Amino acid sequence: MSRHPPRPGAFTEPPKKSLGQNFLHERGVVDRIVLAIAPRPGEHIVEIGPGQGAMTFPLLDRHGALTAIEFDRDLLEPLTAQAAAHGALTLVHANVLDVDLTALAAGTPIRLVGNLPYNLSSPILFHALAHAAAIVDMHFMLQKEVVERMAAGPGSKVYGRLSVMLQAYCEVTALFTVGPGAFRPPPKVDSAVVRLRPRAADTVGIDDPARFAAIVRAAFGQRRKTLRNALGGVVDADTITAAGIDPQTRAEQLAVADFVRLANTVPVEPAAQ
Ligand code: SAM
Repeated sequence: MSRHPPRPGAFTEPPKKSLGQNFLHERGVVDRIVLAIAPRPGEHIVEIGPGQGAMTFPLLDRHGALTAIEFDRDLLEPLTAQAAAHGALTLVHANVLDVDLTALAAGTPIRLVGNLPYNLSSPILFHALAHAAAIVDMHFMLQKEVVERMAAGPGSKVYGRLSVMLQAYCEVTALFTVGPGAFRPPPKVDSAVVRLRPRAADTVGIDDPARFAAIVRAAFGQRRKTLRNALGGVVDADTITAAGIDPQTRAEQLAVADFVRLANTVPVEPAAQ
């Protein structure tokens, strides 16, 4: 057994399951992602979870500069050491869910990329959504089933809250799938790369985002029920009808535009005196 100390800048820690560390090692997959992102000069690219740099270093080679947000302290020193040969890496040591992406953008909308920790996919997607105005687009590697849910349309078995919330605010495009063998260690699931492009705020058409979110959550909270029953207590049957929707319909049959119209039809409560 070798007794040599690890060389400075080497990644020495084993992957941490608790942080969703499945590191990409297939160069062909990395190249496809970089090609899909197609960085253009002057853009501010922000990577979530650079890990051991599988996407970070090729992006730096191509683009020259990058900001990356990594939670695992053990990865910071080797990332910084190895990045120097590739370009200018600004490393932020933080839980991405605590990062104010709007402040990070500082007035120049960012392009978000990442092979995300799969256990945090939905919280990260909703966090990004809250900062959509500061984001040009997002390219994420996620569990394939999650990408299918994100891109699903009405009538599909996997169409749900995630589909409606994301599609209301973003154009969602599933790009390609990736097998477990592209990662070390291999995850138990297939993966897929997805592109999200936030819509311009004035084209989304949602009057009250909090009300919209509450209605979508309630509608899919009991997806087998009719809207009249699922939305009881949130929206009455007359309002559903006034929005041009049959209260006997189920949430999974409504298009995103129907949810927007329904939320906009709900009478606004008078402000408390
Ligand atoms: N980008 C690398 C790759 O493709 O090989 C690593 C991807 S690995 C699936 C997910 C990365 O996200 C890990 O580096 C992990 O430490 C990091 N991570 C996990 N939770 C995080 C969090 N809350 N905030 C920021 N990074 C996180």
